[in-house]
Amino acid sequence: MTKDTSAARIVVNAPGDYTTMQVEHFDPPTPGPGELLVRVAAAGVNFIDMYRRAGVYKVPYPHVLGSEGSGTVLAVGEETSGFTAGDQISWDAAPGSYATHAIVPASNAVLVPAGVDLTTAAAVRLQGLTAHYLATSSFRISPGDIALIHAGAGGVGLLLTQIAVALGARVITTVSTQDKAELSLAAGASRAILYSEMEDITTQLPPQVRAAARELRSHTEHHVGDGRGDGVDVVYDGVGKTTFDASLASLRIRGTLVLFGGSSGQVPPFDLQQLNAHGSLTVTRPTLAHFVLTRRELESRMNDLHTWIAQGTLTVSVGATYPLEQAGEAHHAVEGRKTMGKVLLIPSTAS
Ligand code: NDP
Repeated sequence: MTKDTSAARIVVNAPGDYTTMQVEHFDPPTPGPGELLVRVAAAGVNFIDMYRRAGVYKVPYPHVLGSEGSGTVLAVGEETSGFTAGDQISWDAAPGSYATHAIVPASNAVLVPAGVDLTTAAAVRLQGLTAHYLATSSFRISPGDIALIHAGAGGVGLLLTQIAVALGARVITTVSTQDKAELSLAAGASRAILYSEMEDITTQLPPQVRAAARELRSHTEHHVGDGRGDGVDVVYDGVGKTTFDASLASLRIRGTLVLFGGSSGQVPPFDLQQLNAHGSLTVTRPTLAHFVLTRRELESRMNDLHTWIAQGTLTVSVGATYPLEQAGEAHHAVEGRKTMGKVLLIPSTAS
């Protein structure tokens, strides 16, 4: 294959802030066994990229950022079945995806069906799989459940809200601005609570959540008289440090807290007796890799997502796109809580 010296990628040479991200030109490698060389159409921006950039998660440096994307297969490595040049695929675990060209493990690639464009395919891949396993596996939503979802206008938040509602839940969200509240309500939330101006989220948020849950429950006979009190059945908390205590205090007896991230910082160690004191609660701290353990599990979840998109059950909201070279600005916007929905990097088709 001819070398493409106009290929570009985003690199950091040491842990640091968004200003340390640099554009580097490189020769796309030949794919090895089990690998695909892909022309990237869109690369997803995710918190894991920022954790790796900043050194919160340890990676060797120099480090090429990114792990998620969609694109077209240019070359297939030896001993690699299931894909041919020209196929359109998405992935969520290919290090170095902030690039014009990336090497994608075939084991992580999924064909994008006709009817789903490559932008949507990249936007739904990592956050969609996350929302899927949160709603169906970490805590299986049942009709009538009331769920609290923090950062309801975020990438995971918007998808999780739609999936939870489709599975029969009523959803309360937290958001930081009125614009975000409107987007969250449009995605199906019954209530969107503004939490950013609260002086003390831990004491001020739970009463508002409990009041909202009581009101939603009063519209139905479901759960009435089961003795578990008010509050929500499940909290999905990807904000972490600033919301964790409020999440515990918002649950009903025997409720479940699914802590799946820390956009405000990681939750420090805590006293397990709190689970007893708050009502025999369950806390789980899941990660995506453990919910796509087999090829079958990955394909089944992706098939659901693609089907829901085709049926109109799931709308994928791309809040912002940036040229690949402006990846630093994209990180800055996400870290500054400026974004709604999915943020994507688009490599120039000329480079
Ligand atoms: P979002 O699009 O939700 O962006 C993060 C949101 O968190 C912000 O928009 C903001 O919403 C809220 N937030 C609250 N406090 C802060 C803060 N101090 N700094 C920045 N943001 C803050 O991100 P994603 O959807 O990509 O990810 C959400 C979470 O899910 C992350 O913690 C991520 O690590 C986690 N995740 C976990 C996975 C897993 O398998 N465990 C997989 C994928 C993601 P607002 O302004 O409304 O408060």
